[in-house]
Amino acid sequence: MTAPYADRVGRVQQSMAEHGVDVLLLSVGGDLPWLIGYEAMPLERVTMLVVPARGDATLVVPRLEAPRVAPDVPCSLEPWEETDDPIARIASIVGPARAIAIGAQTWAEFVIALQRELPGGRWTSATTVTAPLRRVKDADEIAALARAARAVDVIAVEMRDQSFIDRTERSVHQELNERMLAAGHERTNFAIVAAGENAASAHHEPGNRVIAAGDVVLLDFGGTMDGYCSDITRMYVVGEATDEMKHIYRVLRDAQEASVQAAVVGATYESVDAAARDAIAAAGFGEYFIHRTGHGIGRDAHEEPYVVAGNTELVEPGHAFSIEPGIYLPGRFGFRLEDIVVATDAGPQRLNEAPRGLAEVE
Ligand code: ZN
Ligand code: ZN
Repeated sequence: MTAPYADRVGRVQQSMAEHGVDVLLLSVGGDLPWLIGYEAMPLERVTMLVVPARGDATLVVPRLEAPRVAPDVPCSLEPWEETDDPIARIASIVGPARAIAIGAQTWAEFVIALQRELPGGRWTSATTVTAPLRRVKDADEIAALARAARAVDVIAVEMRDQSFIDRTERSVHQELNERMLAAGHERTNFAIVAAGENAASAHHEPGNRVIAAGDVVLLDFGGTMDGYCSDITRMYVVGEATDEMKHIYRVLRDAQEASVQAAVVGATYESVDAAARDAIAAAGFGEYFIHRTGHGIGRDAHEEPYVVAGNTELVEPGHAFSIEPGIYLPGRFGFRLEDIVVATDAGPQRLNEAPRGLAEVE
């Protein structure tokens, strides 16, 4: 991957000027690795990048983690010792700045301490500055998303040949995590396994439910590979699908296809959401589609843009997002179908190509 980071710092400073932000503070979360290629450890020892409106950025980092910082990061380093007060250090670098944007996932403990050290600051979320830039992926980022998507595609296909019957959801969950790591992900982010009536709960936590003949099984899994996230949902049924299952799944599959095809450059995100929602409603299942159609994906598994009613933002080339409508029949079963899609001038392109049919498994 070429080093895009120096260019990104310049673009972030331009975005800061446009939004009237004096200083940007980034810690854990996707903003920091996107901007300088370094990911903060989620620890009680604070790591904070201080980006002024003009001039060089400074990374305040625990001394023991400084060796992990690449020598060519586009910022200066301020390692702090165990007996230092890193919050005071950060505050002194921030100086008299008034409009302060801070990373959305920064620990509250650090935010509160900084607010005490910097009275009079006007605090906003860094998302205002970073999201408009981060959601347009460059060619290297799309290539990374495509590699991650291919890795989970292979797993989704391999799961068609696995035996599900008499296993717990948790056992399949562990298998998915192991497969993601074996396929090159540096970490797993989630592996939802929801059997039977549990598949009607969109974000079910896999448990001791034993998978039985006739169960629908929902697998929704993803991780992070070379810094970029994967996220796929495929549906399985143990034994033969009933006619009702086949009918509802067909409705869902057509709705997902309609939504993907609606994701053309210049369309609003609410229209992409409506394409799936209208198709499901027309078939009489509207009340059973209870969440937005999708979310952006990149360094974070969920990021802007969101494919949701009320979002009038436009699809632009380089946007990457999930299209994942669902139909959930409470107490019975549910279906979701999810692919990652990249918007291009030539039309929407799916990154996931694993077969989308309802897989009948043992
Ligand atoms: Zn998912
Ligand atoms: Zn998703």
